[in-house]
Amino acid sequence: MKKIYEIRDIDCANCAIKIENEIKKVKGLKDVKIDFMRQKLYFDDEQNSMNPEKMQQIARHVESEVSIFNSKEDNKTQKKTITFNQISVILGIIIMGMMFVLQMLFGLNQHIKLIFYIASYVLIGGKVIIKAMKNIKKGKIFDENFLMMIATLGALIIGEYIEGVAVMLFYQIGEYFQNLSVHRSRKHIESLMDLKVDIAHLLIDENIKDVDPESLCINDMIVVKTGEKVPVDGYIIEGETYVDESSLTGESLPLYKTIDDEIMSGSINLNGILTIKVNKTYKDSRVYQIIEFVEQNTSKKAKTEQFITRFAKYYTPIVVLIAFILAFLIPVFASLINQSTYISELAIYFKRALIFLVISCPCALVLSVPLAFYAGIGMASKKGVLVKSGSDLETLHQIEHFIFDKTGTLTKGEFIVTKVYAENKDYILKLASHAESGSNHPIALSILRAYKGEIETKNLKNYHEIFGQGIKVNYLDKALLVGNQKLLKDNHINFDIPDIKQTVIHVAYDLKYVGYIVLEDDLKMSSKETIKNLQKMNKHISMVTGDQDYIAKDIAGKLGIIDIYAKQLPEDKKNLVMDFSKHRKTAFIGDGINDAMVLLSADIGISMGTLGSDVAIEASDVVIMNDEPFKLIEAIHISTFTNKIVIQNILLALITKFVVLGLGTFGLANMWMAIFADVGISLIAVINSMRILRK
Ligand code: ADP
Ligand code: MG
Repeated sequence: MKKIYEIRDIDCANCAIKIENEIKKVKGLKDVKIDFMRQKLYFDDEQNSMNPEKMQQIARHVESEVSIFNSKEDNKTQKKTITFNQISVILGIIIMGMMFVLQMLFGLNQHIKLIFYIASYVLIGGKVIIKAMKNIKKGKIFDENFLMMIATLGALIIGEYIEGVAVMLFYQIGEYFQNLSVHRSRKHIESLMDLKVDIAHLLIDENIKDVDPESLCINDMIVVKTGEKVPVDGYIIEGETYVDESSLTGESLPLYKTIDDEIMSGSINLNGILTIKVNKTYKDSRVYQIIEFVEQNTSKKAKTEQFITRFAKYYTPIVVLIAFILAFLIPVFASLINQSTYISELAIYFKRALIFLVISCPCALVLSVPLAFYAGIGMASKKGVLVKSGSDLETLHQIEHFIFDKTGTLTKGEFIVTKVYAENKDYILKLASHAESGSNHPIALSILRAYKGEIETKNLKNYHEIFGQGIKVNYLDKALLVGNQKLLKDNHINFDIPDIKQTVIHVAYDLKYVGYIVLEDDLKMSSKETIKNLQKMNKHISMVTGDQDYIAKDIAGKLGIIDIYAKQLPEDKKNLVMDFSKHRKTAFIGDGINDAMVLLSADIGISMGTLGSDVAIEASDVVIMNDEPFKLIEAIHISTFTNKIVIQNILLALITKFVVLGLGTFGLANMWMAIFADVGISLIAVINSMRILRK
């Protein structure tokens, strides 16, 4: 039994992986997966032995604050806005404030002040200390909680009370802002998830029955009322309306749709009542595929992020070691040099070591990098571009060579049958449509649109789609060929090649040539601008297509692309892209019809969301929801900006850290500088990352 639980209060993607591994150990559970961004836990509970409480217990072995509950029920817990920790911190601040007031009014004595300090320290830093203790018990000593704890406890011991409390306070404020910005990135991505519809109104003999969209079959009729989302893909057979596809495509302009128009699941019916004929089951519909796609996005970490995690692992113990040397060993030498006592030098260096520790906390580094990538992914999805992982977002702006597919990518792929050359025009269309009835290729769809008759499926046998060439099938037990000249030549059909500058589809039946159909395809609205922009960025641009030379040249000419490769079968395209990838970082941009392999061979595979098949979407790293190539440029900008922010954050953190660390070692930094170097920089990094969301 497949189950989905909500999982809240996981601190980081890394912790999510740890929890996932812990749950995987439980017997009887399969396919365990945690989606950190969406805060969901997926698993297959074979014996149906799990409940949220049990699961929560298991997860709390790893992270003590995690809460797990059923997706549908306990949504109240989700809405809790103030956590126990926040209340505790606020209380701590109040006590601190009270002390200052009392101090001014009555002048408190040292002992009473100490009680106030300790009370507020415990209230403000309690969570950090508990976490650090727990980690020590588990043997994972060196993390930021540990650094914070020893540094602040040390500050209290040497009598720097205000500083000790302040470090904790600022650290908590930094954490709060981080959570806030993860939350905001999350919301952008979640708005995609809202696409899912729970109920479909199925039409049975003029009666409406509410059913689960997953139970709908092809050719079912459903009703979508005003303001509702379309549950599965289909065609409108009654009604007209404006639809809002913004959560799918990022484009806010409503689109007019009427009878015979295709309507995408997830789009919102703004102002009409529609009857829709289902043409895809729920699992084949857009919505399901998007949800699947987004669910894969947490596992792959960006390289910078991996580097930082590794860095932190070695960095923290080294820092603690240096602090230790600074506190206890250096005083030995200092006392010799200065001819003073060890104890008096210890007092000086112990304090320096504490300052050193506060400064050294790598929080800003460790946290701001993934944060920026999340924000970037969130922003891209808001604009209608799905990016699978931080790693893909990182790579995107480094791409030097963009290789475009032609049909469906740069052109609309909505061919229009413009001419038919044959003795019997209805007959050739009938033959062609029968052959194409099983294909999803844009050419197939347009031929089927041009044909008005019925398809006799039972007369078709031995169907073969030869990618990049066409269809071979037995119709009424005789061989039927529909495709380009190569297909017919390979099957030894003789005919004269017509001199036509458009896409030509030849038809042969029973080993005899029947005639050909001429199709025309248009450029997409933003193709030209996209190429222009890429050229401005000095990128290499190529176009590959399975189509004939003259068509390739014609299209490439209109776009200003010089490097073209025509008559390429999917296999050839793959080899070509792999070849290019040896020299430069490449991206392949395809419509996703028969080019899943090619998508995988590029550094980044980009596919078109509405045209592409689910295999293609699965195989790609980036999906453009509304099929407009210009979204690529927007995605590159987001990638560039995100990476800029990441680098700024890293540099800012490292430089400040090293400067203040240096000053600290020589006793030139005080606790307040240390606080700024740590918490201040974390905060600036978080705020800097949030700029991505505002773009
Ligand atoms: P592109 O590389 O431009 O996306 P494809 O590789 O999908 O094009 O197809 C290349 C050529 O193969 C088409 O231009 C067409 O001539 C032929 N072809 C492919 N699939 C079909 C089909 N289903 N029916 C007819 N012809 C097809
Ligand atoms: Mg194609």
